[in-house]
Amino acid sequence: MDRERLYRTDGLILHHTDFGEADRLLTVFTPRLGRLRLLAKGARKPTSRKAGHVDLFTYVHMLVARGRNLDIVSQVETLETFRPLRQDLERASQAYYLAELINSFIEEGDENPTLFDLALATLARLCEARDRVLALRFFELRCLGLVGYQPQLHFCVECQTQLEPVTNYFYPSAGGVLCPRHGEAVKRAEPLAMPTFKVLRFMQTHSWDDVSALHLKPETHLDLEAVLQRYIVYLLERRLKSVEFIHRLRREAQATGSS
Ligand SMILES: [Zn+2]
Repeated sequence: MDRERLYRTDGLILHHTDFGEADRLLTVFTPRLGRLRLLAKGARKPTSRKAGHVDLFTYVHMLVARGRNLDIVSQVETLETFRPLRQDLERASQAYYLAELINSFIEEGDENPTLFDLALATLARLCEARDRVLALRFFELRCLGLVGYQPQLHFCVECQTQLEPVTNYFYPSAGGVLCPRHGEAVKRAEPLAMPTFKVLRFMQTHSWDDVSALHLKPETHLDLEAVLQRYIVYLLERRLKSVEFIHRLRREAQATGSS
């Protein structure tokens, strides 16, 4: 095999499906090459040396051979397994959501090493952080910024005046927040609760070390989730499957908790 036919890349396994008798088709997020679809031959054979290395959400280093239709994983080395993500349904649902977001915003060829590092850091946080939901919100907000949809949270998107710590309005189609004067005039803009507004701004301007020290009230958590989800659904023009799953798990947990 000549050298041009092979390339090396780090990757994060976002998704896999069975392919043929024993193969697996992988969706892999890479720092420099964007999202790739790769064939892992024989990955479902119990004796395959590749089998354990193509689990969901694992961080790998791969040697890939260019194929006529699909590129083929030639060698793979696991750098991090993030094992807790596959042992607990709630963690798994959160990791699925992260994978679905990346899958939705990143295409083949989209070089984004910063987002790659953020994704790895977030998966580690989903394994061990005190507030894993907050880690996911931090990922959403920062991911939006890194793919070109950073919400404007500091100046009114209509008049550019500096936003005050009052009830402003979130307006997804303008990509940010309206001051009270302009927000009241726009039908589809929704009031943004002040605690939510403050947390959003804090997350946009502070590191995870600072953000992870925050203690959010349950209602702020729910509102933060709703605001970011509204913006994401607006941008993607669809709902994400993993969000429905997270909501279903939450309803079931509440039902069990109250019985
Ligand atoms: Zn304004």
